[in-house]
Amino acid sequence: EVKRGEAEVMKVSTAQMSPAKNPHDLYNVDYLFREKHRVWCRFANGQWHLGKIQSTSGDIVCVMLSSTDEVISMDEIFPANPDILEGVEDLIQLSYLNEPSVLYNFRVRYSQDLIYSKAGPVLIAVNPFKNVQIYGKEFLSTYQNKALDAPHVYAVADAAYDEMMREEKNQSIIISGESGAGKTETAKYAMQYLEALGGGSFGVENEFLKTNCILEAFGNAKTLRNDNSSRFGKLMEIHFSAKGKICGAKLETFTLCQSRVVQLCNGERSYHVFYELCAGAPQILKERLKLKAASEYNYLNQSNCLTIDRINDAQKFHKLMKAFNIVQIPQEYQERAFALLAAVLWLGNVSFKVVDNENYVEVVADEAVTNVAMLMGCNAKDLMVVLSTCKLQAGRDCIAKRLTLRQATDMRDSLAKTIYASLFNWLVEQINISLEVGNSRTGRSISILDIYGFESYKNNSFEQFCINYANERLQQHFNRHLFKLEQEEYEGDGIDWTRVEFKDNQECLNLIEKKPIGLVSLLDEESKFPTATDTTFANKLNQHLRTNSCFKGERGQGFRVSHYAGEVVYDTNGFLEKNRDPLHVDLIQLLSSSKCQLLNQFSTKMQHKSLKSATSLDSMNQSVITKFKGQLFKLMKKLEDTTPHFIRCIKPNSKQLPGLYDENHVLQQLRSCGVLEIVRISRSGYPTRLTHQELAVRYGFILLATKFSQDPLSTSNAILKQYNLPPEMYQVGYRKIYLRTGLIGVLEERKKYV
Ligand code: ATP
Ligand code: MG
Repeated sequence: EVKRGEAEVMKVSTAQMSPAKNPHDLYNVDYLFREKHRVWCRFANGQWHLGKIQSTSGDIVCVMLSSTDEVISMDEIFPANPDILEGVEDLIQLSYLNEPSVLYNFRVRYSQDLIYSKAGPVLIAVNPFKNVQIYGKEFLSTYQNKALDAPHVYAVADAAYDEMMREEKNQSIIISGESGAGKTETAKYAMQYLEALGGGSFGVENEFLKTNCILEAFGNAKTLRNDNSSRFGKLMEIHFSAKGKICGAKLETFTLCQSRVVQLCNGERSYHVFYELCAGAPQILKERLKLKAASEYNYLNQSNCLTIDRINDAQKFHKLMKAFNIVQIPQEYQERAFALLAAVLWLGNVSFKVVDNENYVEVVADEAVTNVAMLMGCNAKDLMVVLSTCKLQAGRDCIAKRLTLRQATDMRDSLAKTIYASLFNWLVEQINISLEVGNSRTGRSISILDIYGFESYKNNSFEQFCINYANERLQQHFNRHLFKLEQEEYEGDGIDWTRVEFKDNQECLNLIEKKPIGLVSLLDEESKFPTATDTTFANKLNQHLRTNSCFKGERGQGFRVSHYAGEVVYDTNGFLEKNRDPLHVDLIQLLSSSKCQLLNQFSTKMQHKSLKSATSLDSMNQSVITKFKGQLFKLMKKLEDTTPHFIRCIKPNSKQLPGLYDENHVLQQLRSCGVLEIVRISRSGYPTRLTHQELAVRYGFILLATKFSQDPLSTSNAILKQYNLPPEMYQVGYRKIYLRTGLIGVLEERKKYV
């Protein structure tokens, strides 16, 4: 029943009061029923409104809402926090850790440009999509001097640095979040801080920020979600001397998404560097590379998107050239790299004609193919043969088989992708050469990880599977660490502590990694069968994985995985092909015949690799997923030897606009980046921690002066008794008192009535 007027009164059944499902909240629910308690009510449209409990009778509660005009049926109620807890710096201070309260807290802070908050030990960064005046010299020194301890990425970097110097233990800063949430920017601010702190000794310190410019040109692209989206993961390991000065750095990158070089979705772009080159190359270079405008190239003009708002590609090209010089890539190599970029662009314009009315093709001998050959330093005829035929071994003879249009196009694209990916890896090597300074010993390094976040789209394919698998591994690292920290604090303070249960994601990792029956093994096994198809693969998964609770088969070619961040339905379409990653022998031979030294280097590397996989006992050694898994294990091993500091970036809206806080969008991320998980961990423990002194200052007035004791521990005990709190709701430690969820709210309320 709802009465209209100044305030509205709603009736709701207590059965719908979800907090009661959590045993720790039983007490809160009792309390909730008391008059005047503030609650969040979720309306049918998913929005939350603040209200006050009017009365309770049986399982019916009447709630008064402030000024809504619409009458909506209410389906959920959550206790709201007292006013003194509005916009707290750390979610752990919240008395009630529920979704609406957490969302509201971020909203309040965001509206004041307070983009950083903490969720216990984790820093949460909400992307402002505008310049916020909280960076730069002044702030750097404020945090260095520890004059400010408000949550900030600088504070995280500072804590990592201090801990490294104090404990001589490697540290890591692990940044996660969805595309466009601000990981890369956050990583740069962390580097900026460390540079300011540890700079001034070897000259390296100016360089690793500059290397970002090169990496972003070659590894970032405009996507529908982010105008500057990283399509690779990176780990920057910064080494420090005994005096705490930077003495070197090492960059490691993970799987660049290659298909973007040849195929784009509408409204997205290929890697920035192509457009920058076309727009910014000096006239002489343009002539030498036979360069045209970006719009002339098929690889670039297929998506109806050639420019980015407010971005000047030509200017960016000049910055890139400067960065190349700083990293000391010799002029001639710079030019070779640009020539290869031009070759890739021209490759996209290479066309085929069908001959003899049959399905076979020949390369059209036009300027495109001539330019590619010239830029690659190859013989044009050889190039045309490689692009239109493939060599087959027939007994002892080698025969050339003509390719179909589809096969030839694939071959051409494969060459373009191979050149680009090799170029990217080569650049990473060059950057590393420039960053490396002598024998950097371990025990004094900080690694910054900026990896692609969990992804779930309408259509999820092999790439999403790899990305989500990586995130699943990181999540486990995260869980383990958080629980360990919690436990250590309780034990260190001498309080009674029974292990908190937590949602382990081991079952999902088993589903993926278990041998011989796991997703990865089954995928590799199926990839070996020439007759296997995406459907037989899907059937195989269905047949073998059904017993795992994180797996569900779907009709047709799909399968469903319950990830820690939510369910994702994958389409097996293309899994086998993408996993095989064939290295065409013909292509490698073409590269090794080239006059371009870079291409020769690339081909030597590839030959080495294919040789290794041929002699290896495990013939699937080279499958993409197995390589990925290997990289991931190496990464995790490295991270496990460090003390982690976690940063979770949140994207407040999908329009990349400032000032817009889309509650549902934020909520979905809080869930998927596991922020609520951290919150849940805290709920099972004692989220509120006050020092004895803080307790005495805030609530001690209730005690008669005679009851104050010399011993802060006994004073706290006396205060808590005086408030008549149930003893199972709190613990008194040596340094602090620990309160269960909601208890601080009770204290606040009771304070009013004493
Ligand atoms: P992806 O996974 O796609 O690489 P990401 O998480 O790395 O995404 P960023 O590229 O770091 O996202 O951020 C996207 C954009 O958001 C930036 O280009 C910038 O405009 C804005 N942005 C992010 N963080 C900040 C910040 N702290 N201050 C101002 N703007 C920011
Ligand atoms: Mg990024």
